[in-house]
Amino acid sequence: MKIFIVGNSIASISAVREIRKWDTKSSINVISKEALEPGMPYYSPVVLPYYIEGTLSKENLFSIRDDFYRYMNVNLKLGERAIKVDAKNKVLMTDKSEYKYDKLLIASGASPRLPGIPGERNKRVYVLRTYEDAEKIKSDDSKEVVIIGGGPVGVESALALLRFKKRITIIEIAPYILSTVFSRRVAEMIERQLIENGIEILKEEKPIEISGNPVKSVKTNKRKIKCSSVIIGVGVVPNVDFVSGVLKFGPRGGILVDDKMRTSEPDIYAAGDCIELRSVIDDSIRPFPVWANAMETGRVAGANIVGKNVNYEGGIRVNSLTVFDKVYFSIGDVYDEEKLRKEIKGDGVIELYYFERNRLIGAEIVGDVKYAGLIKSVIRRKVKINIDKFNGFRDLIGMTAPSSKPVKIFEQSLL
Ligand SMILES: Cc1cc2nc3c(=O)[nH]c(=O)nc-3n(C[C@H](O)[C@H](O)[C@H](O)COP(=O)(O)OP(=O)(O)OC[C@H]3O[C@@H](n4cnc5c(N)ncnc54)[C@H](O)[C@@H]3O)c2cc1C
Repeated sequence: MKIFIVGNSIASISAVREIRKWDTKSSINVISKEALEPGMPYYSPVVLPYYIEGTLSKENLFSIRDDFYRYMNVNLKLGERAIKVDAKNKVLMTDKSEYKYDKLLIASGASPRLPGIPGERNKRVYVLRTYEDAEKIKSDDSKEVVIIGGGPVGVESALALLRFKKRITIIEIAPYILSTVFSRRVAEMIERQLIENGIEILKEEKPIEISGNPVKSVKTNKRKIKCSSVIIGVGVVPNVDFVSGVLKFGPRGGILVDDKMRTSEPDIYAAGDCIELRSVIDDSIRPFPVWANAMETGRVAGANIVGKNVNYEGGIRVNSLTVFDKVYFSIGDVYDEEKLRKEIKGDGVIELYYFERNRLIGAEIVGDVKYAGLIKSVIRRKVKINIDKFNGFRDLIGMTAPSSKPVKIFEQSLL
């Protein structure tokens, strides 16, 4: 069987591992548009801020080397872009060639969204998604940086640049930063930490224009901020142009997949940040553009490609953020304060648990991420909990079956 995979990030790597677990004969061909240096074919975007900051070396950033592809017997084609798929004749077209496939996996991820303001493509305006983006930010010597968007990428970029003694201003359109990841309460704890360390945060403010080429200032609805570089971090859009008109899409533009990662066309699967799938919490169809989801859906796609009949339990959002010495962890739906039914404080750790009736649907832990995998497992298994008697993550230990996987340890293994 000829298997083709578009993309060479975590969803793809995870699928390759799973395919090879069961099938050593099929040919696996991985195509990725990024032309990276020979011998260094893979890095995780998650750790790019540490590379910018200088705490992660280039050698350690490129955490999977050529020997992985040799060992897995993968034909890797870097610097080649998928441009079209002919699903009827099972042909993948790239900017260099055409390939007949038996099974195709689309693991093309996502790209930074641009806000659509004048000047957003000017010199010294950056986004952060790829190694090339990180190199550009790392080599920029500006002393005054404006970050548009107070989401995870904006905040991590700010933290990475702080050690270079730059003046950093974050512009956030919402009333608080990190609003897609944390509750207002936890987000405001993070905000306080950032402000104490010299980062300026302008909330409920809308950037209108980036002036100068190279950049000289950013104009918002309230003021003009002088700066010599800008980083835009306002979310992502799935990389799906090459299957437009071929596959069905979800409400937010990602490839629609079922629980087996099958798309609307036979023998075409999709995984990672380019998909939309059923949420484990409320069955709604949504994107889950996070690392763990990409890794797990890649694994499920890989298993089904080789006929293993594996179902995914559903998507769930998981994020963690380390701000200096403090770690903040968030999972599931944590946005409705009325659903915050349990709050536990002690030993420098704060635990917040969100419930829908007696079912855990989300949690935030400040100061400890040890039990992240366990919390995820309890949410996924829809375990019924007696809220009055519930005393935090230690109580969760007995609630999952002994076979539950050590999710956190596994998730970290490819960083
Ligand atoms: C700075 C940063 C920090 C992050 N931090 C976290 C975090 O703390 N926790 C977390 O859960 N997630 C985090 N993420 C998100 C995480 O990186 C993504 O969820 C994950 O990388 C998605 O993996 P993926 O395999 O779906 O796709 P991607 O990593 O987006 O990779 C897509 C692959 O497809 C290739 N490709 C795309 N289009 C084509 C085409 N037409 N032809 C050929 N190849 C193509 C690309 O070159 C690439 O190899 C972070 C992301 C960034 C940028």
